Amino acid sequence: MTPSIAFIGVGNMARAIFSGMLASGYPAEKMIGTSRTQEKRDYYHAQYGIQMLADNNLAVSQADVVVLCVKPAQMQAVVEGFSQQVRDDQLFISVAAGVELRAIQQWLAKDVAIVRSMPNTPSQLGVGMAGLVANNQTSAEQKTWVSSLFASIGQSVWVEDEAHMHTVTSLSGSAPAYFFRFLEAMIENGKAQGLDEASCRKLASYTMLGAARMATELEEPIAQLRKNITSPNGTTEQALLSFEASDIDKIVADAMTACADRSKQMA
Ligand code: NAD
Repeated sequence: MTPSIAFIGVGNMARAIFSGMLASGYPAEKMIGTSRTQEKRDYYHAQYGIQMLADNNLAVSQADVVVLCVKPAQMQAVVEGFSQQVRDDQLFISVAAGVELRAIQQWLAKDVAIVRSMPNTPSQLGVGMAGLVANNQTSAEQKTWVSSLFASIGQSVWVEDEAHMHTVTSLSGSAPAYFFRFLEAMIENGKAQGLDEASCRKLASYTMLGAARMATELEEPIAQLRKNITSPNGTTEQALLSFEASDIDKIVADAMTACADRSKQMA
C-alpha cells in the first residue's frame, strides 16, 4: 500500500521533495501539503495537483508519514499544535537543521518513529545530499522507505549516532557554500588574467562538476585522481604546490571545525 504523506509547511524544501517524488511516479493523490496563505495553497495545488490545506491537524490526521518542513524556530509551536492528532503507527521525518530527535519526540508527546535529516540546497535540482538518523522506534522497513524518499532528491547517508549530524553539516549541509566560495575566487582570478566573467564561470563551474562526477563515479582513490593529472614540473603541480604552501589542509580543517562547532552551539 502506498503511504499517504503530509508535508507540514510547504516551501522550498517541501517542494523539492514532493516534486522529485511526483517526477519518480509517486501519486499526487497520496500527498497533502499545508501552508498558511491561500495564495500559496492555490499555487501549489494548481502547479503540482496535490491537496493543499490550511489546517496542520487535518493534514496530520490523514497521513501515514508526516514530513516536517517548517523553519527550525517554528518547529516546536507547529509540532505541539498538531500533537493531539499523532497516532502510534505514524512515521515523522524532519528536515529542520539542528532540531534534535529528543526535542521532536518531546513535542510530539508520543513514542513514535522519527527520522531527522540534514539535506542541502542542491536537493532543489535533484542532486542533493542528506544525512539521516533515526530514533529506536524506527523499523528497518521504515528506514528503507525513507531512503527511497530521499532518493527522489539525490543521495543520502545514514549515521548511527545523532552527534555525527554536526559532521554531516560540515561535510554536506553547509558545504555547497564552500564550493561556491572556491568558484568565486577562481572566477575572480580568471578575470584578473583578462578573460570575461561568463567564460570564467563556465570553465570553472563545469570543471567542478566534472571533477565531482569523477570523484563519485570512479573507484580510484581521490588522491590518485589528483596524481593522474599532476605531471612532474607541469602546470597543475605548480598550482598544487601553491596550495600546500598555504597549508590547504589546515584551511579546510579550520573551516569544517568552525562549522561543526557552530552546529553544536545551535543544538
Ligand atoms: P521555507 O520558508 O521556504 O518553507 C517553510 C514554509 O513553512 C513556509 O512556506 C511557511 O509559510 C510555512 N509555515 C510556517 N509556519 C507554518 C505553519 N504553522 N503551518 C503551515 N506552514 C507553515 O523554508 P525552506 O528553505 O523550505 O526550509 C524548511 C526547512 O528545511 C527548514 O527547517 C530548514 O532548516 C530545512 N532545510 C532547508 C534546506 C534548503 O535547501 N532550503 C537545506 C537544509 C535544511
